[in-house]
Amino acid sequence: MNLVVDAGGTNLRAKIFIQEESIKSFNAKSDEVPLAKWIETIIQSNPNIKTISISYAGQVRNGKILYSPNIKVDVHDIRQYFSTKYNLPLFIENDLTCAVLAEAKAHKSDNLSALYVGTGLGLGVVDNGKIVKGAQSISTEIGHIPYKDAPFKCGCGRENCIELFASGNGIKKWMKEYNLTCKATFTSLKENRNIKAKIILDEFEKALLYSCGNVITLFNPDILVLGGGILHKNPYLLQLIKENIDKYALNTSIKNLKIVLSNLSEAPLLGALLLKDLHI
Ligand SMILES: [Zn+2]
Repeated sequence: MNLVVDAGGTNLRAKIFIQEESIKSFNAKSDEVPLAKWIETIIQSNPNIKTISISYAGQVRNGKILYSPNIKVDVHDIRQYFSTKYNLPLFIENDLTCAVLAEAKAHKSDNLSALYVGTGLGLGVVDNGKIVKGAQSISTEIGHIPYKDAPFKCGCGRENCIELFASGNGIKKWMKEYNLTCKATFTSLKENRNIKAKIILDEFEKALLYSCGNVITLFNPDILVLGGGILHKNPYLLQLIKENIDKYALNTSIKNLKIVLSNLSEAPLLGALLLKDLHI
């Protein structure tokens, strides 16, 4: 039995798998229960667990949690902790790394990029069958590329990150800035007669196109998979990207490119399940 954990910014989800079939699920809130303690309660009541795999919404490297914006972390050297205390092998990678592994498997592609737009703006890249990671495992942090000045700060400390325009968090910050009190959904913003609501959506669309164009130009994927809550709830964005990407990406890079919406409902979790068989 393998325990697979999706440690997201809002929810902790876990499933016990026997091969590729899940037999049990667990849920908790990320800001309420410390991660290692939560995992311990699961393995203590399920002694047949042989491995732990974690998809983590933050920065991780070599089995250590380096940065955790929203998740309560009680143990940073988490691989070492479970190895010493329980003699269990533990695999942990960033959530977008896990998601792109699952997407690449689902699409049978060795050159695939996955751009997810939800609370934040995230990217995972598989290049010639290998995950693109960089020296600190943060090479595809697309949300923090400089784009335009905003009147507020990003979580990273700067004021010009593209995530401030193309993410759920960014939209909320702009709404606060403009004193817009409607619900932070595309439908509510579209129905709002205040011109500022239209500006927020127009800016979102431009920043999204800019992000997709840069991913395609830099990584030259066969497939660009779009995922995350905002893209799933607003499928018109897929059409918008397909129709306008020629203005944002290098022409030769879009020749044989497919742009699709993700159809995996739990890509980070499914990708985490793959970690134990990889050496990345
Ligand atoms: Zn930033």
